[in-house]
Amino acid sequence: MNPLFSLLPAIVGTVVDGQVTQNRTIPNESVGAINESYSAKHTAQRAERQVKILEANLAKTMMICESLWELLAERTGLTEQELYQKILEVDIRDDVQDNKNQRKATQCPKCQRTVSARHAACLYCGEVIDQSIFNLS
Ligand SMILES: [Zn+2]
Repeated sequence: MNPLFSLLPAIVGTVVDGQVTQNRTIPNESVGAINESYSAKHTAQRAERQVKILEANLAKTMMICESLWELLAERTGLTEQELYQKILEVDIRDDVQDNKNQRKATQCPKCQRTVSARHAACLYCGEVIDQSIFNLS
C-alpha cells in the first residue's frame, strides 16, 4: 500500500474543467481498493521497465555471441555444424534436450546436505559447489 494514500482524507472532489464541483465521502473499502489499484499499477510499471531492460540486455548479449562466433569461425575454421554439435552437447548435460542447461539440486560433498541448483555454494557450510561462470545465481 502506498503510504501517501493512507494519509489522504476520505473526501475528494470531482474535477470538471479544472474546478472542484462537488465533494463526496469515499467509503473506507473504496480507499483500500484505490490503494490496491495504485500499488498494482506501480508494480506493473516496474515490471514493464524491468522487461525492457532484460530485452535490451538479451539483444546486446545475442549480438556479442554472434560477433564472438564470427571471430572464432574466421580465425579457427570451426563450422556451424561443429557449433550445433557443441550446443547439443551442452543442452543434454542436464539429461533433457530442451535448449536449456538447467543445473539440478546436488548433494554438498562436505556436509552432505542438498544444495539447490540456484546456489553456487552450500548455504549450510559454504562449500563451493559450482565455480562455472555460466551459473546465473
Ligand atoms: Zn555443505
